[in-house]
Amino acid sequence: MGFSAHAPVPFENKWSIAPSDLEKYFFEIEQLKKEFIKEITILLALEIDYIPGITAEFSSYKNSNLDYIIGSIHFVKNKVNNGLWFIDGPIEGYIKGIEEIFNNDIQLAVGNYYQQISEMAKIQKPDIIGHIDKVKMNNKGRFFSEEEKWYEKLIDKTLRDIKDCGCIIEINTRGIYRKKCNSLFPSLSIIEKIHFLDIPIIVSSDAHQPEELINEFDATYRTLKEIGIRKTKIFENKRWISKEIE
Ligand SMILES: [Zn+2]
Repeated sequence: MGFSAHAPVPFENKWSIAPSDLEKYFFEIEQLKKEFIKEITILLALEIDYIPGITAEFSSYKNSNLDYIIGSIHFVKNKVNNGLWFIDGPIEGYIKGIEEIFNNDIQLAVGNYYQQISEMAKIQKPDIIGHIDKVKMNNKGRFFSEEEKWYEKLIDKTLRDIKDCGCIIEINTRGIYRKKCNSLFPSLSIIEKIHFLDIPIIVSSDAHQPEELINEFDATYRTLKEIGIRKTKIFENKRWISKEIE
């Protein structure tokens, strides 16, 4: 079981760990590792935001004894006007960002999102790419369809970049059980491409509460097997190994 709190970001927000609490977090998880050593393997991780020129280098955590890093994008930067589009909050902010930061150009906005994912994979090299198509969550068919050619092209390019970087892609069930969207992160069509490209995956509930820990896991593993994915990555004895899906 991995703990992956949100790493600090250098601005006010409600969800990430305050920089002053980071050491406390590391200490607490290390204590839990020892306390439950006979019962369960506990892993220390962080979900780190990548915002070019704003967030800390992922390598700045290398002395923190982290077992792994999940790299995620919640804020999309428009490098031309330096605006930040928050894709994970209430719908009003999502729409406002498209209008004000990307001048109502949805292809530019979504293009910037995926470009930022590729850049994160290449430069920051996280172990895992978190909720890779989170940008669809607030879309709900309003601004684009995932079947449009330009969108599919973006996905193809992003997946090739991730494949080159050797990152694992997270199959994240949170959108479904929180009823924020009706598909996994990523969507089935993307999981099929991931399978075709033979990119390693890991299933995560992105739980924020204990009772969410394995939500939608059975259905998700079934779906993966139907697509033809037979293996998942697990972290054992300080390294990633492939494990057959039961
Ligand atoms: Zn996240």
